[in-house]
Amino acid sequence: KILVPFVGLVLAFYFYSKEDFKPEMLKGKRVIVTGASTGIGEQMAYHLARMGAHVLITARTEAKLQKVVSQCLGLGAASAHYMNGSMEDMALAEDVVKEAKRLWGGLDMLILNHIGYTYFNYFDGDIEHIRKLLEINFLSYVAMTVSALPMLKESGGSILVVSSTAGKIGIPFVAPYSATKFALDGFFSSLRQELIIENISVSITLCILGHIATETAEKTISHVMQKPGAPKEECALEIIKSGALRKRELYYPYTTVRIPLLIRDWAPDFLDSLTRNRLNVENVKRS
Ligand code: NDP
Repeated sequence: KILVPFVGLVLAFYFYSKEDFKPEMLKGKRVIVTGASTGIGEQMAYHLARMGAHVLITARTEAKLQKVVSQCLGLGAASAHYMNGSMEDMALAEDVVKEAKRLWGGLDMLILNHIGYTYFNYFDGDIEHIRKLLEINFLSYVAMTVSALPMLKESGGSILVVSSTAGKIGIPFVAPYSATKFALDGFFSSLRQELIIENISVSITLCILGHIATETAEKTISHVMQKPGAPKEECALEIIKSGALRKRELYYPYTTVRIPLLIRDWAPDFLDSLTRNRLNVENVKRS
């Protein structure tokens, strides 16, 4: 008899204390978005611009970054800048953060999103490729975090780490990529614990994404997927919302990502076979 009102009370408290997202939360905020010349990163830059944030975007291709910057200014960004170069170079990772300090004197949000090129096929044994990918997809994230932490501590800011279902469960044909995304989970989940222990008000949000219809994903994986990818514009907005609300993790699209994660620890073999069956594996030819 007591259980129903108790559960009701807990649910009422949960929904009452849940903060809603408002675009004004980002107004005037100083945000770095990496890998923002295309795909989800580009869409995040546009959302942030519409919300009136200051943006500093990065990628290798200068011409694309220039276009994104001018579009951001047209959409209402408080300011928009870019830095181009490859994140294989840890000096660049640090210089981007220094540039934010020079431009704005501080930083509110660090969105780590870029990835280096990798193949979608059976693991080919190339260890050098894994080393390079770890530098781009993992080490540069750590280097940027180390440089940005003093400013983020000062502002009570947020770190958003864009990861993948492949950073939580075993998915075939992406072994090097998967390794880099699992590494992000290990590092940032441990760091989150330390920040909490030390009472440091910097949030870390790990964004676990399923298949998103970006140009890169369409080119590399669409022939193996049985369903179309989710929209990149909505995905970008959900990432920003989850960071602004200081969530621990984001699952997008929710059910396709969350349900496999719930099955993972209870029935790993079942999940593995489900994962294989959801892919057109016959379309992957060993190269
Ligand atoms: P894109 O390929 O569209 O964008 C990648 C960005 O990274 C581009 O701006 C690219 O620009 C930049 N980049 C590539 N190589 C380097 C490099 N060496 N140094 C610096 N920047 C580089 O990727 P998505 O938008 O599809 O993915 C964005 C994030 O979402 C990634 O973290 C990805 O793992 C994650 N994700 C995506 C999924 C999807 O289905 N799309 C699924 C799950 C996760 P340039 O080439 O000019 O350098």
